[in-house]
Amino acid sequence: MMSLRPLLHDTAATLFNRWGRMRHRGELRMLMFHGLTDQEHHGLENCQYKHLNVDRFESLVRHLAASYDVLSMDEMVECLQSGKPLPPFPAVLTFDDGFASNYDLAFPILKQHGLPAIIYLATEFVDEKIPIWVDRVDYAMHQAGRSRSDLVAFKDKFKVRPQAEILAAVSQLEEDTGHRLGRADRDDVPTIYRALNWDQIREMSQSGLITFGSHTHTHVILGRAQPDVIRAELAESRARIERETGCACHHFCYPNGAAGDFSDTSEQILRECSFRSSITTLGGLNPLPAKPFLLRRLGMTNDLRAMQFKQYLALGDASVRGLLQAGG
Ligand SMILES: [Zn+2]
Repeated sequence: MMSLRPLLHDTAATLFNRWGRMRHRGELRMLMFHGLTDQEHHGLENCQYKHLNVDRFESLVRHLAASYDVLSMDEMVECLQSGKPLPPFPAVLTFDDGFASNYDLAFPILKQHGLPAIIYLATEFVDEKIPIWVDRVDYAMHQAGRSRSDLVAFKDKFKVRPQAEILAAVSQLEEDTGHRLGRADRDDVPTIYRALNWDQIREMSQSGLITFGSHTHTHVILGRAQPDVIRAELAESRARIERETGCACHHFCYPNGAAGDFSDTSEQILRECSFRSSITTLGGLNPLPAKPFLLRRLGMTNDLRAMQFKQYLALGDASVRGLLQAGG
C-alpha cells in the first residue's frame, strides 16, 4: 500500500489544481521571473531563489502552453483598456532586471513553445554592467560565508533608505568583506549575475515574441524618491530601450515592488509620461475587470516543486507554497 501513496497524492493534487484553475477562471495571472540557471547553487548564491532552474522552467512553460492562454503584455493591456474580453485563462510572463540567462536559457524555450514574454530592463545594469545592489550584497555575503539571516537583515534595513545611502552601505560591506562583485560582463563573474547586452535584446525584440519595458535606469526604489528623480529614471530607461530596439517602451515594473515601493506620486508620473501599465511584486491573481496599473504577480521561484508551481498558478495563493511538499 505504501507504494500507492505518491500516486494518490499526485492524483489528488492534480484534481485540486484543476478545481483551483476553474474557480479562478477569468482572473489574470502575471508570472514573475528574474533569471534562469543550469547550475547547482550553494550558500547564499541564489538564496532568495530568484534564478529558476532551467528544467523547471521548461516544464512550467509546457504546462502554461497546455493549460493557460499566454498573452503578450501589449495584447493584455489592449484588452483591459478597450474592454475587449480576455481569453478564459489569461497569463503574462514577466522577467525583471535584464539577466543574460533570459537570452541564453529562457528565450530558446519560449521560442520553441511560441510563448511571448516581457523583460523589464534596469538599463544601467545592461548599459554599464554595474550589478544591481541586491546582487552585490548576495555575492559579498556568500563569499564571506555570512548567514542568510545576516543577508536578510541587511536588505531589510537598507531597502527603505534613500538610494545613495543604500549604495554607500553596500560599498562599505564590500570593503569590510573584501569581496566585490565585478562588472556584469566579466568572465570571472558567476553566470547568474551577468547582464544582457543590446545585441541579444535586439535579437529577442526582432523575434516578435519578446517586449521590453522599463525597470528604471539605476534600479532605484520609487516609493520614496523625489518626483524629479522618478521622471529622470523613467526618461533615461525608456530612451535607452527605444533607441536600441526601435520599439516603443510603455510598460513599467517597480524595483522591489512591495508596499511602500510605489506611491500615488509615482503612479501619477507614470500616467503623465504615457506609460500604459505598471506591475508590482505584490502576490496574487488580478480579478477582472482591472486597470493595467499596480498589477499583482506570482513569484516563480526556485524553491517551488513542480506540483507547487501548478498549484500556485491555479490558486494564486501564497499559502500553497508550503503545501504539497511531496508533490513532483
Ligand atoms: Zn528588479
